[in-house]
Amino acid sequence: MNPWDADAPEAAPPSRPNAAGLDREGLKALFQSFGEPAFRVQQVFEGLYRQRHGDWSAFTTLSKTLRARLEAEVDLAWPEIAESVPSQDGSTKHAFRLADGRMVEGVHMPYEDRTTLCLSSQVGCAMGCTFCATGRMGIVRNLGAAEIVGQVVAMLRAHAHPEGRPVNLVFMGMGEPLHNLDQLMAAFAILTDASGLAIPPRRITVSTSGLVSGIARLGTCASRPRLALSLNATTDEARSRIMPVNRVWNLEALSQALAAFPLQSGERITVEYVLLKGVTDSLEDGRRLAAFASRFPSKVNLIPFNPHEGAGFEPPEEARIGALMGLLVEHRIPVSVRRSRGQDVAGACGQLVREGRSRTVG
Ligand code: SF4
Repeated sequence: MNPWDADAPEAAPPSRPNAAGLDREGLKALFQSFGEPAFRVQQVFEGLYRQRHGDWSAFTTLSKTLRARLEAEVDLAWPEIAESVPSQDGSTKHAFRLADGRMVEGVHMPYEDRTTLCLSSQVGCAMGCTFCATGRMGIVRNLGAAEIVGQVVAMLRAHAHPEGRPVNLVFMGMGEPLHNLDQLMAAFAILTDASGLAIPPRRITVSTSGLVSGIARLGTCASRPRLALSLNATTDEARSRIMPVNRVWNLEALSQALAAFPLQSGERITVEYVLLKGVTDSLEDGRRLAAFASRFPSKVNLIPFNPHEGAGFEPPEEARIGALMGLLVEHRIPVSVRRSRGQDVAGACGQLVREGRSRTVG
């Protein structure tokens, strides 16, 4: 078995129940143990995810007696935002302290007509991509569904997110989301529930490094997030050098998995391609990228590299970005250039690692 088909470690169960992030089943078990009627589940689910309350006193649909009991016996603790660093472009990188003291990061990115939240799925990451700061940490543990949902609620609360404003979620923070698929899908069920956050599935995207076993499993889910692939190289030799997952599933295996991935009408798989000067940005790369992306319904995001200390790579020339875009357009592949937001606070894709932690957990 390769290391990425083994399950990553899970968090230890909390010593006291915490309602923040629980799904309907979890709430049902909690209220059954209290001898409360089943309709409490719906009342509390709405309070947690639609109103996003931060303490039990705000649950005015519950009796005073029940609120007092909940206050005494059940935590309502969303992940603590330990640090927030605003960027000049309006985005904010947040560091969340989890119940066991581990830290993960997320980014809040407001746009004119929507808010996009970049989320973490694991503490650290097992995939070891060489251009990625998180990859250097190694895997510490999976996030639980409650911790994934908790990042969303904590950011929406911190930014006083107005009711009705669309939210997009992208799993492009710490971790390989398909390496934590069970918890990811449990979180997806809470995030999309119409009584709560009600985020449409098409507004949720998971970005994989190319975990083919996970792509196949995701494809079997009746309702699921959209899929993005972090490709970043167009030959097996180059990709295996920067993304070790390619040594297990090469480009041919990957493109076959993507071609077999069941898509809805009009749905496309996003191919993300980080441009590293002199490494992944040649015109031959552009032609191979177009050939790869032509094998399934796709759109391509070109991402000029975000430099960070010790990375050993440089961003591409602007003229080269234009030439590569032209090549993709010639092949009739929708293409855009993604200028990562939060760049000045190291909150862009591949930069989410807390300074100094790689040494303690790597
Ligand atoms: S790029 Fe993504 S998959 Fe690769 S090491 Fe970083 S977090 Fe993990």
